[in-house]
Amino acid sequence: MSAVPARFTWKGMRVPYIAPWTGEIREQPRPERRPLNLGGGIAYLDEHRLYDRHAGILWLRMGAVRGAGTPILAGVNTQRQSQAMDRQLCRICGATTYGRADGTHLYLLAEREGRPIAQGEQTASPPVHEDCAAEALRECPHLREGAVAARVERPEPWGIAGMVHDPVTLAPLPSTMRGGLTFLPYTALKLLWTVAHLDVVSLYGCTPVNLDELLALTA
Ligand SMILES: [Zn+2]
Repeated sequence: MSAVPARFTWKGMRVPYIAPWTGEIREQPRPERRPLNLGGGIAYLDEHRLYDRHAGILWLRMGAVRGAGTPILAGVNTQRQSQAMDRQLCRICGATTYGRADGTHLYLLAEREGRPIAQGEQTASPPVHEDCAAEALRECPHLREGAVAARVERPEPWGIAGMVHDPVTLAPLPSTMRGGLTFLPYTALKLLWTVAHLDVVSLYGCTPVNLDELLALTA
């Protein structure tokens, strides 16, 4: 059984595990051109081999000092999001979502106008416990508008969501998605010109979960 991370609250509300704190925000270096003999694409001038790249992909810089400063409830801490996706940790409490008898993980995706989760669909949202999802829905009723949930048998690694840069000018090329991020599979050549912000998985073996039933079960 893995340890349950500390519970942080802010103004009486639970702060989600993946929410960043102001003390974790780092100044972002301007990406520079990386010589072709080193792989091409973009790099940080003072790039650190161990911290700035994962599997060859350049990542946003963010600290890991949970509780430092004030929480940014609408944001995501890159390091904890990535860890939660990789190890199936609940995005609210940070504890494992393994351990259900049916072996599934619950995913709750917001702002979808009720559109159900499709097989193979990509998401940057980590799984969540039933109790944690219900608590969040009760504390912030607006989360419920358009939200959908599914039990997922197999969340599989797919790629990242990141900021693509223009190969000529190196200027950021924001997408129309919130935050300007672009979803890219691990096979995309554009990864060379991208600073990754979030890990993305593909969801397989999805069974829809009714939110009313979820709330009733955990009442
Ligand atoms: Zn939880």
